[in-house]
Amino acid sequence: MTTYTPTLDHRLLERLRGAVRGEIVEPGDPDYDEARRVYNAMHDKRPAIVVRAVDAGDVIATVDFARDQGLTLAVRGGSHSVTGYGTCDGGVVLDLVRMRGIRVDPDARRAWAEGGCTWADVNHATHAFGLATTGGIVSTTGVGGLTTGGGMGYLARRCGLSCDNLVSADLVTADGHFVTCTEDDHTDLMWAVRGGGGNYGVVTSFAYRLHPVADILGGPTFYPLDGDVIRRYRELIAEGDENLGALLVVGLGPPVPFLPERWHGRPLCGVVACWTGSPDADDRIRDRLAALGPVVGRHVERMPYPVINTLFDDLVPAGLYHYWKGAFTQGLPDGAVDAFVEYGATTPSIQSVTAVFPIDGACHRVGPEDTAFTYRDADFSIALSPTLTTREDCEAQKDWVRAFHRALEPHSMEGGYVNFMDADDQNRVGVNYRGNHARLTALKRRYDPGNLFRLNHNIAP
Ligand code: FAD
Repeated sequence: MTTYTPTLDHRLLERLRGAVRGEIVEPGDPDYDEARRVYNAMHDKRPAIVVRAVDAGDVIATVDFARDQGLTLAVRGGSHSVTGYGTCDGGVVLDLVRMRGIRVDPDARRAWAEGGCTWADVNHATHAFGLATTGGIVSTTGVGGLTTGGGMGYLARRCGLSCDNLVSADLVTADGHFVTCTEDDHTDLMWAVRGGGGNYGVVTSFAYRLHPVADILGGPTFYPLDGDVIRRYRELIAEGDENLGALLVVGLGPPVPFLPERWHGRPLCGVVACWTGSPDADDRIRDRLAALGPVVGRHVERMPYPVINTLFDDLVPAGLYHYWKGAFTQGLPDGAVDAFVEYGATTPSIQSVTAVFPIDGACHRVGPEDTAFTYRDADFSIALSPTLTTREDCEAQKDWVRAFHRALEPHSMEGGYVNFMDADDQNRVGVNYRGNHARLTALKRRYDPGNLFRLNHNIAP
């Protein structure tokens, strides 16, 4: 195999070196391989440089450099993009991994998180004050890509999407300008970063609204894979208790101590709960979950809110091979339940968890045109993925997930969540943004006419 080693004009590179305080990593440097690596091992790219920025000044210098040299620019937050948008061949990677500072104002219930923070960083900092905001269910996911794409997690029903809790964003635009957008200032950009992905610039700092959430009752309850269990889960969600974040998961039994060995590797469904209501209701919630079907294993306990967001961390470490598909549904139609049962039974690995996020409640109280994220009439957001330990195995399972997605299609809405899509879903960008696509395109023309920020679910200018 020949490897492509990019080269850059050294004079210009020296100028960039003088302008940034962070590190610049090039091919040949001892940590080049580590610096170019992203979470999804499917993307083995060789950028010309990786700039590990430490502040907004570094971000501006790097954006200017990439734009002026006509180089491809990949912006990396937590590196979890399944499409591998946090890296590129021959271009510039702007890595925000060194920008992970957080400030919490407990009285104002606000947190300011730098653009490279992970949800583990944010949850840890806010939990100290008994506060939290909606974030992802794996703690190593970045706030950057997750928030700008929408942001779903256990608190979504009660507190809305992550982007709904974004109250301001410091943004470096394609022309290298720094703007602070809020609901009163630069409102068009504020609207666009709430769901429009990385299309409009690099967010160097996110300010979030926080909610009183300290310890919760949470964890998984597992049942044999059965349509009746899923239909009872559907009824549970339809009851509309927004304090109950409850993900449906479909896949193979994980080797965890509270699940008897005979269920390891066998098709199961489960509900991963996060109850933020009164502890007085803990027994009622446990019983309600147990009533969904014959329980084969469970671990539903009181825990600090940050802990529930680490439950999947060990199952899906960096370095696995992923290929994803996403869908939205209104309710969970019987046809979708049938697809979960049929394709769940042939799930290719323990890591290939099909996750169904309820996004009703507070997510529905935001209008479809209030933020770039428009699917406010969707009740569930579904993530499908073969996740495997080798590229060959993942390639071989792409047909499984495509067939699964096709089986869901007649029961789904037209678009899906951009953050659960793969790169070959670029042709769905228009329907993913539905009625907001035209406005997003007009804003892209205004703020990034050259499409510098194109490694994303791209709104073409
Ligand atoms: P990166 O690869 O760093 O970036 C992804 C995209 O976001 C790129 O286009 C990049 O340019 C842009 N971006 C990143 N940071 C910034 C920034 N600071 N400013 C502007 N643009 C930026 N999604 C959910 O909603 N809920 C979940 O619970 C959830 N769980 C997940 C679990 C796993 C294991 C994985 C792999 C993904 C999960 N996702 C979830 C999907 C996730 O939202 C997307 O993969 C998201 O893009 C990850 O963001 P990141 O910053 O880690 O990724």
